[in-house]
Amino acid sequence: MKTKLEVKNLSYSYHESTGETTALSHISFDVRDGEFFAVVGPSGCGKSTLLSLLCGLLKPEEGSILIDGIPREKSRAVIGYMLQRDHLFEWRSILSNVSLGLEIQNPRHRFPFARANAARRQTEEQNRRDLLQMLRTYGLEAFRDARPSQLSGGMRQRAALIRTMALKPDILLLDEPFSALDYQTRLEVCDDISSIIKTQKKTAVLITHDLSEAISVADRILVLTARPGRVKTILNIDFGPGAERPLERRNAPEFSNYFNQLWKELKYDETTV
Ligand code: ADP
Ligand code: MG
Repeated sequence: MKTKLEVKNLSYSYHESTGETTALSHISFDVRDGEFFAVVGPSGCGKSTLLSLLCGLLKPEEGSILIDGIPREKSRAVIGYMLQRDHLFEWRSILSNVSLGLEIQNPRHRFPFARANAARRQTEEQNRRDLLQMLRTYGLEAFRDARPSQLSGGMRQRAALIRTMALKPDILLLDEPFSALDYQTRLEVCDDISSIIKTQKKTAVLITHDLSEAISVADRILVLTARPGRVKTILNIDFGPGAERPLERRNAPEFSNYFNQLWKELKYDETTV
């Protein structure tokens, strides 16, 4: 399979008046096209920093990031990201919230017919149809005119995912997107959302501190050491065709082996630092 994302020798430090914090040190890994790649590591090891570097919010101090073989800063690839908090706006309806990404990308989206030429109007209409289709598919159609506060935590996260997916991202970055949800909802939403991402064959990088969540969704898991984050190991996860969905994986016999393997990698790290 083609390589989508290459991270080579990436390092990053925060500089403050009180001193320097090296967050990441010489990180290298590849993510394949369509792969679901998870990153785990102790709190403060630089996971969110890594995501900020991948989406361009931070500039690498050393090393490089390539998307489809092109340096990140020159690439035209669309990167979507989803964070722990859903950042839905209470004063907007669900439909208007999920179209927000498109509106920002193209301010005229809010006025679909204002001075738009035929081609643009067609794209906008197509985008709107896609949005409505996604709301239907993901069980939010009846809530298109509702306010975010009328939705459950899980439905809000689905709305946040639709908003991100509307931009048709080439790569999806997810920074602990389920951690604000209660346990039961988290299992359900994780199952939903990872199925959506897999059905659409998106390349995804999921940051999580929840080992079982990583095992339940990922094709591979990158384990980072405690700060400064370095690559400890990259674990291949393969449950075979019978257990594709997270909830099926959690019930598969291999699950606990993977869990113990990951647990050991992290525990060993803590005792040696
Ligand atoms: P993680 O997401 O793995 O918990 P982060 O990437 O958020 O870790 O942070 C890595 C390290 O960098 C932590 O020690 C954190 O305190 C530090 N850090 C994060 N953001 C900043 C910042 N804006 N300024 C200074 N230090 C920061
Ligand atoms: Mg973080």
